[in-house]
This record gives sequence, C-alpha cells and structure tokens, in this order.
Amino acid sequence: MPDPQPAVASSPWPGGRSSAQVQAQLDALVAQLRPERGGELPGYIPELANVDGDACALAVCSADGELLLAGDHAQAFSLQSMSKPFVYAQALELLGREAVHRKVDVEPTGEAFNSIVELEEDHLPYNPMINSGAIAMSALLHHADPDGAWARLRGMFSQLAGRALHIRGGIARSELSASHRNRAIAWLLRHFEVIGDDIDGALLLYTGQCALMVEVADLAVMAATLARGGVQPRTGERVLSAAHARDVLALMTTCGMYDSSGRWAYEVGIPAKSGVSGGILAVVPGRLGLAAWSPRLDAHGHSLRGQAALRALAQDWGLSLFTV
Ligand code: GLN
Repeated sequence: MPDPQPAVASSPWPGGRSSAQVQAQLDALVAQLRPERGGELPGYIPELANVDGDACALAVCSADGELLLAGDHAQAFSLQSMSKPFVYAQALELLGREAVHRKVDVEPTGEAFNSIVELEEDHLPYNPMINSGAIAMSALLHHADPDGAWARLRGMFSQLAGRALHIRGGIARSELSASHRNRAIAWLLRHFEVIGDDIDGALLLYTGQCALMVEVADLAVMAATLARGGVQPRTGERVLSAAHARDVLALMTTCGMYDSSGRWAYEVGIPAKSGVSGGILAVVPGRLGLAAWSPRLDAHGHSLRGQAALRALAQDWGLSLFTV
C-alpha cells in the first residue's frame, strides 16, 4: 500500500492562501486603485505619453511557476529601466564581476535615475540600476560583441519571459530622438574613459532594451526567476547563475527605486525595480515574483498605483525581508 498523500498540495502563496483567495485579492486591489488618478505620464519620451493612463494591472508568480493576473493584463508596455537588473546580470555572466565592476560601482546615489552629478564627481557610475551605470553596461556588452550583443540580450529577455519578446520601433525611435540627457551621460562616460568610442552603438543597445515590449505577466515571471536564484520557474530553464541573481537582488534592494530606495526598503522591504512605462517588478527571494503596471508616475519616475499595490500586498502578506 503506498503512503496516503495529502489531498491538497501545500499552497505556494503567503500564509497558505489558496489561489482563489489570492486572485480575489488582486482583483479587489485593482478595483480599489482605479479611482486613484494622481501622477503624470512621462513627457520626455514623446511616445510614452501616448498610452492609456488609466490602465492598471497586477501579476504574481509563485516560486513553482503558478501565475495569477488581474486588471488590464493583456496590454503591452515597454520594459524601460526594468531591463537594467537583467542587463547587469548578462554583463556579469559574460564578463565576470571583476571586469564589470571596473566600469560600475555598487552604491546608491540618492539622486534621480538620469542624474549626471555623481558621475561628474567620482568618474564612475554609482550602480547599474541608474542610467549612467546601465549605459556603461550596454557599452561593455556592445564592445565585447558588436554584432551579437542585441540578439544575445533579446534572447535572455525572451528566456526570462518564456516567450519571444520584440521591441516597438516607435518607442525606440521616439526615445532616441529625445535622448539628449542619455547622450550627455554617454559622452561624459567617454570623457572619463569608462566607455570607448562607439557611443551610438552603446546607446542603440540601451534604447533597444528599454523598448522591449512586455505584459505584466512577463514582469512577474522575470521577478520569480530572480526569486528562484536564476531558474525560470515556468520553463525550468536556468537563465542566470545563482551568484549573479544574488548580486542583482542586492542592488535592487539598495538602488532599484533610485532616490526613494530607502523609503521603499522601509515601507515595502523587498527588492524591486521600476521603469518609466509605469511597471514595477519586485522579488521575495525563494518565494514570489510580483509585478504591477499603471502608467502615471510620481516625481521619482515610479508608478503611483503600482507602488500602492505592491505596498498593500507586502504589508498584508508580511513580505518585508526585515520582518522577524
Ligand atoms: N529609457 C528610459 C531613460 O533612459 C528609462 C528610464 C526609466 O525607466 N527610469 O530615461
């Protein structure tokens, strides 16, 4: 006689909640957030202002790959700065920690994501979660393999999502036409010899990664891949080494929300990364990937409703890593 098995496998969700309970909670949260109409669409990338500002979607992915979605989850949006943790990871995978950290430090800035001041002072980007550090990472990847870098980067993002991802050319062109500040950052990086001469190649790669189109489900699965130490939980494929997933999570914790990373750690307490398209992905190591998307932003460039949703879930589910 085989041993009797428990009739129901233990729940992957916090507090032993059932999937139906979590689904109901996500649906209720989206409904509760809809009347919140604060914040602004980003004006500096023209194409990003041409979106439905009222859209709102949530997703969670458990460590064993169960995915729950709520709200306008079928709408696509661009990855923007949520690409940065993974591009940093690819640089680590290809070139190793030593080579990468000759080009970028691991300190929070206390400045906006597109700041130039700390670069001017210390001549090295503070971390890979801000534009200067991310452009340095793109330059490194482009320099290592000018012809293959884009295919390799898009390939990694497709593995992370578990489906082929593509860029929206209109968003990339729109950003390139207005990327004066990023160009200034790149030239300053060139001046301090952090990057080489191919400024256009580095910026094209950087802008391409920002213009990759995703849905909120993709963000949750990408976050869950970090939660699983680099293994994509729905395909079972190892995309990143465990050591590099750890490096990424450390920097998302200290730098992922730029100059509001301190408040985020205090109020939410889990590593996260936002993008100016209104997405935020967040990771509970070993347990969960969470994602929110709603396009209107606060002054730091983070989705207002997205932050509210993740804050509410983290508090209700007791997710803060600092809870004893
Ligand atoms: N593509 C955007 C930029 O370079 C990304 C910024 C962001 O998402 N915070 O400004």
